[in-house]
Amino acid sequence: MTRSRPAPAAPARLSDPVTRLRGVGSQLSERLARLDIRCIRDLLFHLPARYEDRTRITPIGSLRPGTSAVIEGTVLAADVVFGRRRSFLCRVQDGSGTVSLRMFHFSNTQRNQLTPGARVRCFGEARSGATGLELYHPEYRVIGSVAPPLADRLTPVYPITEGLSQQRLRSLCALALGMLDKTDSRQPGSEDLEADIVEALELLHGPTPEVSLDALESGRHPAQQRLALDELLAHHLSLLQARRRMQDMKARPLPCSGDLLQRFRSTLPFPLTRAQDRVIAELTADLAQTMPMLRLLQGDVGSGKTVIAAAAALIAAGAGAQSALMAPTELLAEQHARTLAPWLAPLGLATALITGRQRVAQRREQEEQVASGAATLVIGTHALFQGGVTFHDLALVIIDEQHRFGVHQRLALRAKGEQNGGVPHQLVMTATPIPRTLAMSAYADLQLSVLDELPPGRTPVTTVVIGQERRLEVIERVSAACRAGRQTYWVCTLIEESEALEAQAAEDTAKLLGEELTDLRIGLVHGRLKGEEKARVMADFEAGSIDLLVATTVIEVGVNVPNASLMVIENAERLGLAQLHQLRGRVGRGATESHCVLLYQPPLSRTGRERLSVMRESNDGFVIAEKDLELRGPGELLGTRQTGLVDLRVADLVRDRDLLPEVQARARELAKQDPAQAERIIERWLGSRTQYAHA
Ligand code: ADP
Ligand code: MG
Repeated sequence: MTRSRPAPAAPARLSDPVTRLRGVGSQLSERLARLDIRCIRDLLFHLPARYEDRTRITPIGSLRPGTSAVIEGTVLAADVVFGRRRSFLCRVQDGSGTVSLRMFHFSNTQRNQLTPGARVRCFGEARSGATGLELYHPEYRVIGSVAPPLADRLTPVYPITEGLSQQRLRSLCALALGMLDKTDSRQPGSEDLEADIVEALELLHGPTPEVSLDALESGRHPAQQRLALDELLAHHLSLLQARRRMQDMKARPLPCSGDLLQRFRSTLPFPLTRAQDRVIAELTADLAQTMPMLRLLQGDVGSGKTVIAAAAALIAAGAGAQSALMAPTELLAEQHARTLAPWLAPLGLATALITGRQRVAQRREQEEQVASGAATLVIGTHALFQGGVTFHDLALVIIDEQHRFGVHQRLALRAKGEQNGGVPHQLVMTATPIPRTLAMSAYADLQLSVLDELPPGRTPVTTVVIGQERRLEVIERVSAACRAGRQTYWVCTLIEESEALEAQAAEDTAKLLGEELTDLRIGLVHGRLKGEEKARVMADFEAGSIDLLVATTVIEVGVNVPNASLMVIENAERLGLAQLHQLRGRVGRGATESHCVLLYQPPLSRTGRERLSVMRESNDGFVIAEKDLELRGPGELLGTRQTGLVDLRVADLVRDRDLLPEVQARARELAKQDPAQAERIIERWLGSRTQYAHA
């Protein structure tokens, strides 16, 4: 019997499962799956979080605290020492200096190995300790007369999971890179990576010693920049794709007869601004189409976005259809209900409110209004789109303060709204003005409208920055404002995002202020209160039966009480500029002159001081957003909360914003000319995570 020679191993394809790799069985592949690594491509795009330099030996004398290094030397002394904690201390010298290895957990074997005269090689981070520089629990090995070779590459450190070692992941990546077919020419249907992408991946999975660790750490190495461009392109393309999918679907056209809108205008106590008129005209044109509207409305705090939401809902109502308005917090949803119900009621239209904290009976009753179509405009939190709520004929979805929702949530919502093959029109409103290039990337699937004008008669808010030691003066000021018939917010903030601690801080502050300001009516609102309780306090504050509202940052978005003209923000130095601007936007909504006091805890850091002075100098959200970007160091990610963009692995929207114009241009071109390539790019970066784009 002849045995056929084994065929030479076929080159790995990117879509091959990781089990193609030698040594990867079901157990290992399960562990890899926990890191979202399922195929070869996922593995290659699982990039190191940082690097260690084990390619050279650092003389002990030139060790610096806070840096990791390889050292080699002879053990001088090794003893168990009894300090606050028992530890094993081992002095090592190499001619240039001495350093201590300190181990709090140690075995007899270790004590027997590390005896005076032994030669050791260690890797660890040097820190200042009781005996000078010390390495705590370093990796070490005792070496003989012939020193083992050093690493010939910088050592990548990957995000890992239990049961998967760095070493294992490193060798898997090397294996996968080695199996890639690099000779294959570009053919139709080929799934090859571009040659420069392969090069960049090879470099990043195992940089040679000449590669600058600093460049890698700052993310500015050309290999990282090449991948960043590709990654941003992937996100951009996937949003364009989501847009195209949406546009292939039909929406119910909502032609505007103008009648309801006209009556709405005449019942409002103010004329619309020119910007509001313009935006309403843009919406009217969009809504009359059978192609679903996908529009982003950007407008600074206080620019009057709620009126636009109402107008859009009225256009839909005029065409006999239902609308939904989704807000990020219960507080804001409740407030919208209180504002919008009286606007719509005179026109013979009803609203419903759906939040997560409603009592069962109340919720049922509201759900019935929604299902029967009795409610024309349905207002709520994300509870709107969770089970139980059935719309009668939803044709328009409005999302307020979209920056609080991630892109996933936004796109998932579209799917929920789908009915009989049709999709609702969508209006997304946000007050976080991000620079235009960023906006175009974060919202590539949307058309942009801008409210670039504040309603008339607003006096700009005057902002002062005051240290905690002058707190009493501030309290005096609150007292004076309230005695003059105006209302005040006092906002408590904490570093940790713990709702419980923040609530506690607000309770304590309310108590203390109550002792100082005995003649004021003080209210308290925080995230721990029951929904009804919160709603009651807010209604009292709106009605003017509370003078001073002590609050956590739950009031950050949307809350609108025009008679409130003073805002105090405690520990303002802890908040980002965007958040401070949002908070400050709660005052300056009426005709009286408003003030914002930023209380800080000295000493202020340099960026802390710069940030607060930006707030003092500007009231313009766009200016503040630009400054915010400048003051963030490179590498400080602009989070999902600000942009709606998700999970970037290599790219950083702020650091790499120079790449964005190129990303936008390339994306448009690729989407048109080479959809297959566009698909490959999306797949390699977003892979299993693109379900949302298919909404
Ligand atoms: P935001 O854009 O922050 O959501 P709002 O919709 O809450 O702003 O509006 C802020 C305040 O301005 C509200 O009291 C609203 O009634 C008022 N407002 C809106 N449009 C106008 C206008 N054209 N003229 C005067 N006041 C207006
Ligand atoms: Mg608003």
